Amino acid sequence: MSETSPKLRAEMEGIPTYRPGRPAAAGGPVAYKLSSNENPYPPLPGVMESVTAAAASFNRYPDMACAGLTAELSDRFGVPAAHLATGTGSVGVAQQLLQATSGPGDEVVYAWRSFEAYPIITQISGATSVRVPLTEGETHDLDAMADAITDRTRLIFVCNPNNPTGTVVRRAELERFLDRVPGDVLVVLDEAYREFIRDAEVPDGVELYRDRPNVCVLRTFSKAYGLAGLRVGFAIAHEPVAAALRKTAVPFGVSQIAQEAAIASLRAEDALLGRVGSLVGERTRVVDGLRAQGWTVPETQANFVWLRLGERTAAFAEVCERHGVVVRPFAGEGVRVTVGETEANDIFLKAAAEFRKEI
Ligand SMILES: *Cc1c(COP(=O)(O)O)cnc(C)c1O
Repeated sequence: MSETSPKLRAEMEGIPTYRPGRPAAAGGPVAYKLSSNENPYPPLPGVMESVTAAAASFNRYPDMACAGLTAELSDRFGVPAAHLATGTGSVGVAQQLLQATSGPGDEVVYAWRSFEAYPIITQISGATSVRVPLTEGETHDLDAMADAITDRTRLIFVCNPNNPTGTVVRRAELERFLDRVPGDVLVVLDEAYREFIRDAEVPDGVELYRDRPNVCVLRTFSKAYGLAGLRVGFAIAHEPVAAALRKTAVPFGVSQIAQEAAIASLRAEDALLGRVGSLVGERTRVVDGLRAQGWTVPETQANFVWLRLGERTAAFAEVCERHGVVVRPFAGEGVRVTVGETEANDIFLKAAAEFRKEI
């Protein structure tokens, strides 16, 4: 056997690994997974039926253009089909955006801490990450992000609400920021949690994109719609960007099962809104409960809450697990906890109360 191994791109060294939220251990004391911002509800009415029907023909390739889903989305958002691009989750679409815009020597700006996929997909592209720290209030520092733009900047992520802090940027500040970004820099508004927003001052990215050719909106079926395991997300952007996304897509990446499930989910809107409403109610209950216990909790518009625990992060995660919920620790920084089913939230609140007694 040869001593040498295949030469890989230098960027492959030191790519951070994506840490998926851990599942609840089978048979263990832990019963609930609150570590991945998933929807705790089973599939929406009609979705299971569509999936089962589509499963009967998985010997065939899916519709590569996702025409049915695209038509449905076009209708739903009032955007031309040519402005839509689908992909294997919005992380897949985000990676395509980097492939289309950025390479070695280019810079990608994003807040930190934000979604952990950004550093990974940026490094894979060969571009350089420019991380702009969150403000004291755990929100995007849009002024500092605009100041960070250079001749080399190609793409900027704005995660709204931000994962893992749940905080938002509002209309006036976001518009002021967009006005400062040069037209040849792509701004990606990652709105994975859009459906959970109740703050009327948070703009809908789809409205912002309309007269801004350098704005791209990312949405997903993984969170509110509950299709995380099927891998389907999409972008809304003007032609050159949306066309580039169609070019960079892995052929047949979105399965027919995922396409049919997404269509059925869009048609089950009433049931969806009911569930999202319940989760938003639970979110209020969890935040109020934590604050009553004395915790500082940033205002969240997503389906999770953020506790900045610093050095006590791991200890807190352990206490939660002992009580029966798995949360998502970010070592030395804090813990992100998904709002789940009522029983899970109750357990989490109990664990948080006990932790406060111990410290
Ligand atoms: C969960 C999440 C996504 C969506 O991921 P999918 O690939 O669509 O499952 C995108 N952006 C952020 C910030 C997220 O938290």
